[in-house]
Amino acid sequence: MAQGFDHLLDATITHLEALKAEGARSVSFSNESVQILREMLQERRERAEPAQSNRPFAQKPIARETVSRRESSVATDAGKAQAADLVGRVADWPVLNAEEKLTAMRDLASRAGACTKCSHLVKSRSQVVFGVGSLDAEIMYVGEAPGLDEDRQGEPFVGKAGQLLTKIIQTMGLSREKVYIANVLKCRPDTPGQTYGNRKPTPLEMQTCWPYLLEQIKCIRPKVIVALGTTAVEGLLGKKTLGITRLRGKFDDFRGIPLMPTYHPSYVLRNPANRIKRQIWEDMLSVMRLLNHPVTSQQENYFTS
Ligand code: SF4
Repeated sequence: MAQGFDHLLDATITHLEALKAEGARSVSFSNESVQILREMLQERRERAEPAQSNRPFAQKPIARETVSRRESSVATDAGKAQAADLVGRVADWPVLNAEEKLTAMRDLASRAGACTKCSHLVKSRSQVVFGVGSLDAEIMYVGEAPGLDEDRQGEPFVGKAGQLLTKIIQTMGLSREKVYIANVLKCRPDTPGQTYGNRKPTPLEMQTCWPYLLEQIKCIRPKVIVALGTTAVEGLLGKKTLGITRLRGKFDDFRGIPLMPTYHPSYVLRNPANRIKRQIWEDMLSVMRLLNHPVTSQQENYFTS
């Protein structure tokens, strides 16, 4: 019975997020439906609570008002908080098999590829930059938005900063094919009057695009998320945070998934001191240790001098 409820809830959430991704701003719920959702939510909470206390990174939940602002515009006022909570934590998400993952990700990529929610970005983009990598990735790297190179090539992190990220991933003993790489925003932020340069996405743009990244994370269920730069951390956590120099190096929590904030590779390119390289590398060593990946003495000692 509980599993049946879970499937129904997941189907409802997926449907609502699909409507939102297609531009819907409201749907109607009868009072009776809201009451049913409340009861289902209560049951899910009761089931989830004992498990959460055992999770190593099960810290503070994301502020309800923040989640509500970002995810529940498809719900009625009465159902807003419930709709936000129904998106839940990783332990509540359905585990998809390989075929289901592929189907879900293809469907999501196709919806994102046709997305026109940000009309100003639709005008300026060459294409939507969805994401790349393994659907079974243990590590998901999340940046803020595509830049000029990414917009042209349709793949995240392929410019100079992307080449540095690739090098970091390889130095960890991995490859781009074994991890998943995406951005909070799927279209390049426009730069009116300029043909070059990049800008940070606005909070509104990130909120608008948020359902796509959330669905990517839910589909892949990575064991660790690496947030590259302050904007990516804020996009993921849905709130204003401290600067990356204060955040980096300590795991945060994204709905039960450890989240490591670290520098954006472009910051490292602009500040190529050994101290900065060592710090981003230490963050990657922490990720490797958390995943029980072997760390060689050579890896341990990079940038120590
Ligand atoms: S940034 Fe995201 S929400 Fe906006 S148009 Fe592109 S895909 Fe759609």
